Amino acid sequence: MPHVITQSCCSDGSCVYACPVNCIHPSPDEPGFATAEMLYIDPVACVDCGACVSACPVGAILPDSKLDESQQVFVELNAAFYPKREGKLPPTSKLAPVADAPAVHRRAGGPLTVAVVGSGPAAMYAADELLTQQGVRVNVFEKLPTPYGLVRAGVAPDHQTTKRVTALFDRIAGLRGFTFYLNVEVGRHVTLAELAEHHHAVLYAVGAPTDRRLDVDGMGLTGTGTATEMVAWFNGHPEFTDLPVDLSAERVVLVGNGNVALDVARILTTDPDVLARTDVSDHALATLRTSRVQEVVVAARRGPSASAFTLPELIGLTNTHEVVLSADDHALVQQDLTTESNPLTRNKLEVLAKLGDASAPIGRPRIRLAYRMTPLRVLGDDHVEGFEFTVTGTDEVRELATGMVLTSIGYRGKPIRDLPFDDAAAIVPNDGGRVAETPGVYVAGWIKRGPTGFIGTNKSCAAETVHNLVADYNAGLLPDPSERPSALDRLVRARQPAVVDAAGWKAIDAAEIARGGADRPRDKFTAIPDMIAAAATAPTPSLGQRLLSGLRL
Ligand code: NAP
Repeated sequence: MPHVITQSCCSDGSCVYACPVNCIHPSPDEPGFATAEMLYIDPVACVDCGACVSACPVGAILPDSKLDESQQVFVELNAAFYPKREGKLPPTSKLAPVADAPAVHRRAGGPLTVAVVGSGPAAMYAADELLTQQGVRVNVFEKLPTPYGLVRAGVAPDHQTTKRVTALFDRIAGLRGFTFYLNVEVGRHVTLAELAEHHHAVLYAVGAPTDRRLDVDGMGLTGTGTATEMVAWFNGHPEFTDLPVDLSAERVVLVGNGNVALDVARILTTDPDVLARTDVSDHALATLRTSRVQEVVVAARRGPSASAFTLPELIGLTNTHEVVLSADDHALVQQDLTTESNPLTRNKLEVLAKLGDASAPIGRPRIRLAYRMTPLRVLGDDHVEGFEFTVTGTDEVRELATGMVLTSIGYRGKPIRDLPFDDAAAIVPNDGGRVAETPGVYVAGWIKRGPTGFIGTNKSCAAETVHNLVADYNAGLLPDPSERPSALDRLVRARQPAVVDAAGWKAIDAAEIARGGADRPRDKFTAIPDMIAAAATAPTPSLGQRLLSGLRL
């Protein structure tokens, strides 16, 4: 019974290291890792030990005997990654661990202390990597009272399995040497210079918090917006609760066909009673219950072979939703099938070829994937009434009637005060995570490499940065902080008395889970004062505990 990786694969590679026979690929040291849509288990080499199952943070791996009907397709998908062979392979040797950080040298001036800015996956994987070594201290600063970045505010609410990675992050937050400073904004409550005075190094893992803008006429009319704002809105991000979302039109057009576009299309066409069993925000659920949307068109400028969504997400979508193609687009799929040689892209095309026909009458809200549509302009006076595209590579203009246009053309990094910024790539220029011309400052995640990859892609990305940070520390390039460790706590509390610590986050977490009752994983707080009030119910440390932690500082 070989094991099989399924839809929610996060690509963090933990399974690769756990596997005793090196049968999961691509591994983080192989060239295809950074661009792989998921990882694959070799069914011939798998010895069925289940080590990968316990290592996977998102529950994506199952023995093939435990797959449900909708997951059967992943058996072939895992196998198709490997060449066809006869007979059982002998187990291969275990991979050498990739880029382990060098051992931290002990110094008289105190332990290596690092400030991590941000608390999403890249930040948490960086903290984990640093804390593999005894004595190291990591202070994680997050501007919201709740941690974990896009896992909380970006992963779609109907993808609860993916959100399970928060259990791993909670474990990391509980490691000795880890301190949360939540509800503290670097650049507002404390400056980079102040962090540098209290730490050996500052590591920014702040992601890509805005989105790329589509520069065509009419963007800005009422009814236009971005998919990333919509994702934040239905995930209950406190800065997006008042987003004006009007779902009174029958058609929504999404520009771009990456996984974010599929997430938004899926949520807009899911039965609200199904969503009511997730942690979708209450305000989004109320609006979705009044929705009149019947069709979401996901429009890509290139052809089917170049679809930006991944195969596991396409498979997941077609299992649960009605997804259709026009006759013209079916013809494009057939055309691409005659020329496409990449077996993984062929798999995607084969799924597309089986989709229904868009000319059929609409029974329930559905998703239409559309190709070779280059955005031209939004139509309408005050409010969106339609969208014009040209057929890519031609002057032929096509119009779609719609009341809402959402662009989904990628996230974008934001300049950080006091750091250099590459405006074209929207990243902080860096060499393996070392920020150019700024000694002692490092980056990891999307602000380091751009907005690509999955949650787990940040593990190897953060490991590379930590490797270089520790090497710099050992080489004597990171001077000891000028301030005593205990001064940091005083500084932060003076600037932001409402700082939330790990106990405060646990109290918020428990209160949200309790509010969710029996039917929902949680009911999120969406207003910061409510989060802070919940955090304040955390048991305060006793005088003895405070004295002890003071002694440890
Ligand atoms: P993405 O995958 O980079 O897709 C961007 C889309 O926008 C592409 O279709 C691209 O088309 C299109 N585009 C860019 N500029 C355009 C323009 N000027 N006009 C028209 N179309 C344009 O971005 P994303 O969907 O925001 O996802 C970001 C990352 O998060 C990806 O790595 C994604 O896989 C990941 N993610 C994963 C999941 C999951 O695993 N479930 C969920 C959400 C996000 P071209 O290809 O033609 O440039």
